[in-house]
Amino acid sequence: MNEVHMDRISWVEYQGRVREEAAPVFLPVGATEQHGPHLPLGTDALLATAVAGGAAGSVAGLVAPALAYGFKSQPKCGGGQHFVGTTSLDAATLIGTVRDTVREFARHGVKKLVLVNGHYENQWFLIEGIDLAMREVQASGIEIMRLEYWDFFTPATLARVFPDGFPGYALEHAAVIETSMMLHYHPDLVRLDQLPDDPPADFPPYDFYPTRTQLVPPSGVLSSARGATREKGEVMASELTRLIAAAVRDAFD
Ligand code: ZN
Ligand code: MN
Repeated sequence: MNEVHMDRISWVEYQGRVREEAAPVFLPVGATEQHGPHLPLGTDALLATAVAGGAAGSVAGLVAPALAYGFKSQPKCGGGQHFVGTTSLDAATLIGTVRDTVREFARHGVKKLVLVNGHYENQWFLIEGIDLAMREVQASGIEIMRLEYWDFFTPATLARVFPDGFPGYALEHAAVIETSMMLHYHPDLVRLDQLPDDPPADFPPYDFYPTRTQLVPPSGVLSSARGATREKGEVMASELTRLIAAAVRDAFD
């Protein structure tokens, strides 16, 4: 079995994998952000890396080191910037980091690049970074897939994970999906004895500046994680591995 992590192989082996074998390279993008009292600050980057690792293992791909800081946490989907530990980038910094990283992979001879986003707030800045890079590197022949991993869950899986109804991905911050997936990939980092009992957040249909922090549950968890189980995490992880690997095989042909 080939090593999957780019930072664990030499440049010589890496060069062979991307130039001779045309290995797809997965770039996980996360955040350093509060995830309640029961999950670690690195949850978004850890999950994006784990999901990328599953898919890469199925398509003889490589996983690059994650971009571990993301765009600013928003109250309605990540709790907001008032939490200690949440450590975020200005949009221009994230855009520039993505642009520079994509440009480097193109220079290496990577032809298939897959950005795996694990932090809701990053999406449009990843799009912009990719777009700016493509202006410079299109002649290299690189092609890029960008995805939010949660978009791959099937309705059948969501019905199984949320028998009482799905609250939506924004409110799923540090809740059933992320907690279940962490129980599967990194059980040693989950503190189930610390699960908060805040009621689900109830936000008005507008944003307000400075943030009305009283609208955000003090634990930082936006809907209950009580339904999280390791078994649900395993179901979701295996679905993501299968469907993302299939998408990569199809899209780059
Ligand atoms: Zn998260
Ligand atoms: Mn996040």
